[in-house]
Amino acid sequence: MTFSVQGIAVARGIAIGRAVVMGSGRADVAHYFIKPEQVEAEIERVRVGRNAVVDEIHRLQHTIAAMGPKEAPHELAALLDVHLMLLQDEELINGVKHWITERLYNAEWALTTQLEVLSRQFDDMEDEYLRERKADLEQVAERILRYMKGMGSPVAQPPTPRRKTSQDLLLDDSVDVPLVLVAHDLSPADMLQFKQSVFAGFVTDVGGKTSHTAIVARSMDIPAVVGARSASQLVRQDDWVIVDGDSGVMIVDPSPIILAEYGFKQRQGELERGRLSRLRHTPAVTLDGQKVELLANIELPEDAAAALKAGAVGVGLFRSEFLFMGRQGNLPDEEEQYLAYRKAVEGMEGMPVTIRTVDVGADKPLDATRRDDAHLNPALGLRAIRWSLAEPEMFRTQLRAILRAAAHGRVNLLVPMLAHATEIRQTLSLIDFARAELDNRGVPYGKVDIGAMIEVPAAALSLRTFLKYFDFLSIGTNDLIQYTLAIDRADESVAHLYDPCHPAVLRLVADTISECLRQGKGVSVCGEMAGDVQFTRLLLGLGLRSFSMHPAQILAVKQEVLRADAVRLRPWAERVIDSEDPAIAMSA
Ligand code: PEP
Ligand code: MG
Repeated sequence: MTFSVQGIAVARGIAIGRAVVMGSGRADVAHYFIKPEQVEAEIERVRVGRNAVVDEIHRLQHTIAAMGPKEAPHELAALLDVHLMLLQDEELINGVKHWITERLYNAEWALTTQLEVLSRQFDDMEDEYLRERKADLEQVAERILRYMKGMGSPVAQPPTPRRKTSQDLLLDDSVDVPLVLVAHDLSPADMLQFKQSVFAGFVTDVGGKTSHTAIVARSMDIPAVVGARSASQLVRQDDWVIVDGDSGVMIVDPSPIILAEYGFKQRQGELERGRLSRLRHTPAVTLDGQKVELLANIELPEDAAAALKAGAVGVGLFRSEFLFMGRQGNLPDEEEQYLAYRKAVEGMEGMPVTIRTVDVGADKPLDATRRDDAHLNPALGLRAIRWSLAEPEMFRTQLRAILRAAAHGRVNLLVPMLAHATEIRQTLSLIDFARAELDNRGVPYGKVDIGAMIEVPAAALSLRTFLKYFDFLSIGTNDLIQYTLAIDRADESVAHLYDPCHPAVLRLVADTISECLRQGKGVSVCGEMAGDVQFTRLLLGLGLRSFSMHPAQILAVKQEVLRADAVRLRPWAERVIDSEDPAIAMSA
């Protein structure tokens, strides 16, 4: 039966495919397709992993049999029996074989998919004792996965992207159909694993439009919906689904008529993208001749290629924290960071690269398993520059790496979430210290312009101080909105209140731009607002000439720039931000 689930639209386009429902915490498992000739080897890996766990349990059974009932309570023996029974369950084994043989999933992916199917069955059980066996099943699967990890994968290969149009899809339902990932939650680090992935679309139960998970999804330029509440409960493994990333809807089990309609929309979208791609080499200049700089936001050095392809004239925001995530506390050392930053700099072929110092915390935990939920208000806690200043060794290591990369091209250094003059002074003296350390070691480094992000209202209201110390400012509207309106950007339950058009937000943005222009300092916007075509004219009218966004958004924004007359937009923009309801004034 067809039904739809409403969420929040985060990345445009239509994806049609089969659902891969992923339980929480399972994103760390590798997902890739194997070749048909590798099927037997993958089944063998699961079999060996499972046998190793069976042997381990047998050994434990012998050990506890030799103990007295005091040291080894009866419940323990019973539990081991249950685990053995689950390991030998035909449904587990046959299911895993099915996913490997029929879908060509790698062993880990097949095992976690089957785990998901069986977990659902346990959830539906009437008997409470049986329902609780789900936890045992998860433990058993976890142990098999651990063994398989130890074995390594003989067939591991880079994930193969598979994207098909709806037309292909209507013609063929072979293993090669696109897959849509449906999960309760994915951390930004999990999401990063799926870059270049097999998935054609994403849906998550939680998250807001500018949560970092949504931001990474957008950077992947594939349709995505977040905040879809209980989507991962309502969809079953392998259901046909449509993800409409434009209106934020997921349609489950679509009828042929709906499928045809969305297939049409999908082709329209592809045509539009083809049309926009012709603007790639067109300079971004308004009708009245104002040059506009369209820069890229990137998460990894490899993203420089997408930035160049989209016609970016530099990187306006390299979110360096993605190099620090999902490493179980083993932070990258100076050399590793230097090589990564240098790769981005060289990848941009002489264009400037703005590297932001690490911005972890809140909805960007270092490790997905170490979520910041333990703190009452993680978004107001030890994140971004606050964390860097609390970890000066780590921070200086990063600063040295950035300064060294600057010897290979044009680099700007950007500092996130500053609010206090003391933080500014501490940061700048640590940068001096990092330079002195490199001098002492005789290591070459380059000159950098140093900028601050304007992300907290306190910063936007202290522009004189900021401009005294910094060469340029970059407005992080995602956080500026969050902190001005006191709306957690990652919380879907308040997503309707997250309003870029609030007059207070627009006033802070407008004042920051005009003060920088007045003092002849560089200013850009690097939050999601910069890549949203709804705001291009308004920001141009406020005097902005530098926009930084995901590569996928650059051409659409360029089209708006080419159609705009910046001088004529100025009085209109002033009227909009002075109005009680700028969203209405903007469309009037
Ligand atoms: C912002 O806050 O607008 C920004 C660009 O930084 P991030 O989204 O990484 O917090
Ligand atoms: Mg921010």
